[in-house]
Amino acid sequence: MIERKKMKLYGVRHLDKLPELNKLSEEDRFATKVVATVLPFRTNNYVVEELIDWDNVPNDPMFQLTFTQKGMLKKEHFNKMADAIRRDASSTEIKSIANEIRYELNPHPAGQMTANIPFDDDEMIPGVQHKYRETALIFPSAGQTCHAYCTFCFRWAQFVGLNDLKFATDESNRFQGYLKKHREITDVLFTGGDPMVMTLDKLKVYIEPLLQPEFDHIRNIRIGTKSIAYWPYKYVTDKDADGVLQLFEKVIKAGKHLAIMSHYNHWVELSTDVSKEAVRRIRNTGAEIRTQSPLIKHINNDSAIWEKMWKEQVKQGMIPYYMFIERNTGAKEYFEVPLGEAFQIFRDAYKKLSGLHRTVRGPSMSATPGKVAIEGVTTINGEKVYMLNFIQGRNADWVKRPFFAKYDKNATWLTDLKPAFGKDKFFYTDELETILEERRLKVEKIMNLAG
Ligand SMILES: *Cc1c(COP(=O)(O)O)cnc(C)c1O
Ligand code: SF4
Repeated sequence: MIERKKMKLYGVRHLDKLPELNKLSEEDRFATKVVATVLPFRTNNYVVEELIDWDNVPNDPMFQLTFTQKGMLKKEHFNKMADAIRRDASSTEIKSIANEIRYELNPHPAGQMTANIPFDDDEMIPGVQHKYRETALIFPSAGQTCHAYCTFCFRWAQFVGLNDLKFATDESNRFQGYLKKHREITDVLFTGGDPMVMTLDKLKVYIEPLLQPEFDHIRNIRIGTKSIAYWPYKYVTDKDADGVLQLFEKVIKAGKHLAIMSHYNHWVELSTDVSKEAVRRIRNTGAEIRTQSPLIKHINNDSAIWEKMWKEQVKQGMIPYYMFIERNTGAKEYFEVPLGEAFQIFRDAYKKLSGLHRTVRGPSMSATPGKVAIEGVTTINGEKVYMLNFIQGRNADWVKRPFFAKYDKNATWLTDLKPAFGKDKFFYTDELETILEERRLKVEKIMNLAG
């Protein structure tokens, strides 16, 4: 029997109160608070009581995953905020220092939100991203938060109120109109934040309309979520648990594929009884669970962790899907793993697994031109190179055309890479420029129309 747990969310103001934090030195405890005043901080009683090993802090990966750490801010930023807190500065001043620092942390990498918003009849459709032909991302406005915040999250800016919630969709049916019209879309992916923070009633408002005949072209519904890792009670003992599972069943009965795109960073998240029960119950509805995670220093930069995680996922009936490279935003210097090292970690885990686990792809960068995977590091005619490949491209015809970049052991992102073999650009560079330029012109036109 799994006992019900009542959710308690912890934010900055709990950092002085949580008894578990007495395990930290006074100095580390203060540092956590300093950083949590700049970067988003939220955790909950399940993470604190059942996932973090408090005998292993501060190095424990689950502690690093949700508790802010001194190294996440540059020294000068850290000292500035530490000083303000020590001298008891006013909340207005603290807020303004926090925002000043945040704007230096690339809060909106690669036009994340704006570059992929679609138009219809010269109007932008808020809360939708449509970058790859078959798949539309939907950002429900009530799902733009999470049961806890990952310290590395590339959406961190929205959690401290810096953007872009105006790009989320409300329950009005603008996004449905777009989906109805675009018959090339086969997959709808609800994402956030975490759409599974929504109540059952809200979830139904978003999902049930897609079961109607005018959405027959939508074959696959995906929900991107960290809820099984951060709050598995959602599917087991929460008030709405059975209702959520019935909704999943209804989607399946309507003839759609339902994929829970589950975010896991470490095998510890798969190890509790309540998490295993959540997985069992979700799979019982006929939904598939596919798993994805970025590779992050201090949390999972060790092939043994991935090997164990993927094995445990397959054993529990999940399907490993993506390993991502961490994006260039926020505390990226604390978390980043160079591309060569990332590939080595992927390969060292992958080669120890049977074919059932090798559904996983990566390490992959969700970059401006598309999802680019590092497929190998090799030497060709005496030149050491990365072999790269589009898993998804802004132009679908870029997919599965291998291309090569000079090996650079410090590179951490696609934009750090130079073409190999004396070429001055990658095969897609010119076409990408054209695509982006057309988009810029279109956005400008729409802005002008809007006056
Ligand atoms: C990853 C991603 C998708 C989904 O791609 P799949 O390879 O089908 O999982 C869709 N849209 C965007 C913007 C993405 O980054
Ligand atoms: S669950 Fe996802 S969206 Fe939420 S904080 Fe973690 S990485 Fe970010």
